[in-house]
Amino acid sequence: MTLTEKILARAAARSRVQAGDNVWVKADVLMTHDVCGPGTIGVFKREFGRDARVWDKTKVVIIPDHYIFTADSKSNRNVDLLRDFVKEQHLPYFYDIIDDPDGHWVFDPSKGMLKRQYGSRYAGVCHTALPEKGHTRPGEILLGTDSHTCMAGAFNEFATGIGNTDAGFVMGTGKLLLKVPETMHFRLEGKLQPGVMAKDIILHCIGEIGFDGATYRALQFDGTGVAGLSIDDRMTIANMAIEAGGKNAIFEFDAKTQAFVDYRCKLNGTKPTYEPVERDRDEQFIYECGIDLSRLEPTVACHPDPGQRKLAKELGHVKLDRAYIGSCTGGKTSDFLEFANILRDRRVCIDTYGVPATPEIVHDLQTAYWDDKTVWQILLDAGVQMTENAGCAACLGGPVDTFGRINTPMKCISATNRNFPGRMGHKESQVFLASPATVAASAITGRITDPREYLS
Ligand code: SF4
Repeated sequence: MTLTEKILARAAARSRVQAGDNVWVKADVLMTHDVCGPGTIGVFKREFGRDARVWDKTKVVIIPDHYIFTADSKSNRNVDLLRDFVKEQHLPYFYDIIDDPDGHWVFDPSKGMLKRQYGSRYAGVCHTALPEKGHTRPGEILLGTDSHTCMAGAFNEFATGIGNTDAGFVMGTGKLLLKVPETMHFRLEGKLQPGVMAKDIILHCIGEIGFDGATYRALQFDGTGVAGLSIDDRMTIANMAIEAGGKNAIFEFDAKTQAFVDYRCKLNGTKPTYEPVERDRDEQFIYECGIDLSRLEPTVACHPDPGQRKLAKELGHVKLDRAYIGSCTGGKTSDFLEFANILRDRRVCIDTYGVPATPEIVHDLQTAYWDDKTVWQILLDAGVQMTENAGCAACLGGPVDTFGRINTPMKCISATNRNFPGRMGHKESQVFLASPATVAASAITGRITDPREYLS
């Protein structure tokens, strides 16, 4: 069995499963957020009754993150609905934007978009917050009402996005009927060259198979090249499996996974035990792709979908209006460090927005010093508009007052993960997906630029 099949077999209490089998699996964690949470709760109450209780309150994680720092009252109301539900159900894992359980968040114009407008428990973007807060464990089943839930495959677990109806059912029963996906095999060898990042790996893979090339399939990443990839790198790659239509992505378990998960579970007091899965000899794959990481170059997915692969060096003629770094995919600490490394002692020449994925990342950047300056200050000095309000922000457009949202037709280079028309706001805008390094170099020149031109 493949890694995915082994996890699904265990969760279904079967000795073996194969691609195409339909199995009932037990969920270890159900995650929802402010966009899909109210709908999920509605389905749960409709099907299980107004007084129903969730199947296991320690396994439901609720993370408001999408439409948060906006004056839009309907978006604010969504978070209120989550808060009411958490109180009613006594759920311990709710990462609220405010500290007062009876309160109501309101936009503070005196702080504006840049200054912190959240309380002590707010966790930021769900997929980045889940591992930070100790909710991702090897060998487990994580179901989330968000397509990029597949990001947690970086931790050797089966993680996938589900709809509100399925999530309402899981909320009541802890179970879900799943078809076992076929597995595509990506064997990574070698080491990335300077200026080339994990984002380039996944953009390369999606370019190989197209934006629907992995529809309802698992993407298994292994090989000697994985050892050189950080946990953040693996998260970036797993996150974008869905951009090829993948059901899930999965990495092997190793010492890096163990160190990260053990540390985070201990830090947060979450369940510390887990059982990873290892590779079998009899794995059967539907597709094989070997990639020599040392041969990859800075890569871009052009408008209008993540499969439109080109090399950054081929796109110097594309003039840009905006650059954006953020999201679960591209807003991690390591992403901002690579971004700042290119921008240090330089200036951007187009509007450039920076949105860390979580408050912890804001803290990292504001306390990491390079010589006598914090990384945060280096970015401000370079002309980047950095917000402390960690969250999804303009990654998916959002209400019209969302920080960094594209409100007019324009060309934007972005470290986010999705570029279908209208994704970041205006339907006639064009979004080019790239690594944080390529976004930084392009922000300096105002055209798509290979970051290797700026390596010192
Ligand atoms: S940052 Fe973007 S991709 Fe990630 S969860 Fe938020 S909207 Fe989705």
